[in-house]
Amino acid sequence: MRENQITLTKQPLLNIGIVGHIDHGKTTLLYQITGKWTDTHSEELKRGITIKLGYADMIIKKCERCGKFTTKECECGGKTRDFEYVSFVDAPGHEMLMATMLGGAAIIDAALLVIAANEPFPQPQTKEHLLALETKGIKQIIIAQNKLDLVSKEEALKQYEDIKKFIKGTIAENAIIVPICGQQGINIDAILEEITRLEIPKRDLTGEPLFLIARSFDINRPGTSPEELCGGVIGGTLKRGILKIGDEIEIKPGLVRKKHEQVIYETIKTKIIAMRSGNNDLKEALPSGSLAIQTSLDPALTKADSLSGCVASLTGKLPPIVNKIKMKVNLFKEVVGSKSGESSKIEQIKIAENLMLSINTAITLGNVINVKKDEVELALKIPVVPFKNEIIGIARNYKGHWRLIGSGVLL
Ligand code: ZN
Repeated sequence: MRENQITLTKQPLLNIGIVGHIDHGKTTLLYQITGKWTDTHSEELKRGITIKLGYADMIIKKCERCGKFTTKECECGGKTRDFEYVSFVDAPGHEMLMATMLGGAAIIDAALLVIAANEPFPQPQTKEHLLALETKGIKQIIIAQNKLDLVSKEEALKQYEDIKKFIKGTIAENAIIVPICGQQGINIDAILEEITRLEIPKRDLTGEPLFLIARSFDINRPGTSPEELCGGVIGGTLKRGILKIGDEIEIKPGLVRKKHEQVIYETIKTKIIAMRSGNNDLKEALPSGSLAIQTSLDPALTKADSLSGCVASLTGKLPPIVNKIKMKVNLFKEVVGSKSGESSKIEQIKIAENLMLSINTAITLGNVINVKKDEVELALKIPVVPFKNEIIGIARNYKGHWRLIGSGVLL
């Protein structure tokens, strides 16, 4: 196995986000890589805006005869050995789901950006996805130039040059561009090889645990008897610290309740019953890859992503939730993501306007109550758990679409 700081054998080393325009072949590519992909995204709005991300874990193997990387058996028939365990997060490409994309970017270490060779480049959403990665500080990017079977060699080379030009000066400047045909499974081994070259981020094992919740589930089949019911499950990424079975944890902002016509959030306290990463049961989880935690909660509380956007830590370790935040804002020059490449200048943030904010996996709406130079204060619709210096994605609504306009740092 690949060497790393904490020598994991049961948890994925990296969380890799797959991003790209909706029709550029992400799902097919994921299927080719992981051999499984049935998860679908929902656009329903809930808790303000829902985050729904797809997940898959897999082991990259190396062929001992020909040296190629694969996730199946090697074509040459040679013996393979396990090389690296990684997990994939599928961030939806639909422009309405920019919020989800940003939430997904909060839990990934690297990104695989899929660009279709038979479509004009750059697509507005491709630009916007790059900006989202930049906002979240995701520097490790692999570009898959897909559907090469559908264009001529000249067209492919022309687009390759266009991509090179386009990424110059962006966060993806040093990204390697791998030509592939996702549909036929051609050159997937080259993508896998690039994944094994990604740097594994240094993990913080000593800080207070911080678990970012991206999904939550009820894993029981309908009709399960009460004695056999499994507790509610939360899924996401342990950003720092170590969690163990038996740990008492708290989840914030937690449960939404109405009290005298007022919406209040109640911290949830529970206990870790089991932890799972891919097909492995864990006694202790380290900050790496994606992780599912089974709690002692009533599964009704965790069903249908009801806790996505929340954070968890050991009881008593999370700061109180806040309904107001102050951030230092850095706006982009122009709006991207609009149709036919048209872009327009981004105007300063104004008092009383509503902005969509993404903080870790949480998405909330904020009403601007104060602006002082580059410092903006907002009243939030859904409270957040504030961590100083956290990076916040800021989106503004243009004609019914949320467009990323810049980033903020929580003060
Ligand atoms: Zn081989």
